[in-house]
Amino acid sequence: TIAIFGATGQLGGLVIDSLIGRGVAPGDVLALGRNQDRLAELAGRGLRTARVDLNDAATTAGVLDGVEKVLLISMSEPGRRVAQHANAIEAARDAGVSHLVYTSVLNAPTTVLALAPEHRATEELITASGLPTTFLRHGWYTENHRQEFDAARQTGVVANSVGSGRIASAPRRDYAEAAAVVLSTPGHEGKAYELSGDRAWTYTEFAAASQEVLETPVRYEVLTPEEEQKQLIGLGIDEVTAGFLGTLNANMRDGALAPAPGELSKLIGRPTEPLIETMRSWAR
Ligand code: NDP
Repeated sequence: TIAIFGATGQLGGLVIDSLIGRGVAPGDVLALGRNQDRLAELAGRGLRTARVDLNDAATTAGVLDGVEKVLLISMSEPGRRVAQHANAIEAARDAGVSHLVYTSVLNAPTTVLALAPEHRATEELITASGLPTTFLRHGWYTENHRQEFDAARQTGVVANSVGSGRIASAPRRDYAEAAAVVLSTPGHEGKAYELSGDRAWTYTEFAAASQEVLETPVRYEVLTPEEEQKQLIGLGIDEVTAGFLGTLNANMRDGALAPAPGELSKLIGRPTEPLIETMRSWAR
């Protein structure tokens, strides 16, 4: 059995589709999450399911008995994630699973990315557990840029402080397929894969691709970090969130999401989906 923490989320759903597409029987997948409606839907497709809240270690007791492999998809509430992940890792260790796979972040040990410390701490906990592990270090999801594409459609402008920073994004589907490959083929234990899109794009290219897909003029406007903060706050975003978004954009400006070593396309056996193709799916 392959158990998945985060199975009820967007990435989890795509991993499940990909596993089943690769011939894994639905009954050999144990979907874990909190959302009861989503769990019921998955059970309706023949998956095994269990309700687990990683804020409450009691809900993981015994849940992994008889499970061989575990995919721990990183949780979605920054600030609470290390404790949540620790509960999942402990459950995996107690069950003596043969392989623990974790969705980390690109270049976790060294990156300046503001989101990385929780991933780094989780990798350390996993290593300390002594379990055979694989780290899937994810770069940026192309879907993170959907709002900017919609803004381009409405206003003809994409504006931020990223400047000439490059981003090697890939859609969730590609990362999900990599997870399915690692969970359903041998030889991945002890490895850390740096996963990202094949091509790192700039926002000038993002605007050009939007323009091509939307068939309407789109330009990229570089903002100073100060201008960007003013704009975000003007949009009604609270100061803490705006500050965090500003930091992430500074990380992108500094190239934290630019590495494109090609390890994702190698794992999935095909090129990653180019930005413009993902945009075409948004425009439909
Ligand atoms: P979603 O928000 O769609 O899914 C998050 C999953 O985590 C859900 O299954 C949710 O369960 C589960 N979860 C959250 N808190 C708990 C908890 N306390 N106990 C048990 N389960 C919990 O995220 P995505 O699928 O889009 O992304 C997956 C992860 O990737 C994110 O959580 C985040 O860490 C990271 N990410 C990375 C991005 C990137 O660009 N690299 C962009 C966005 C996210 P339920 O819904 O049932 O509560």
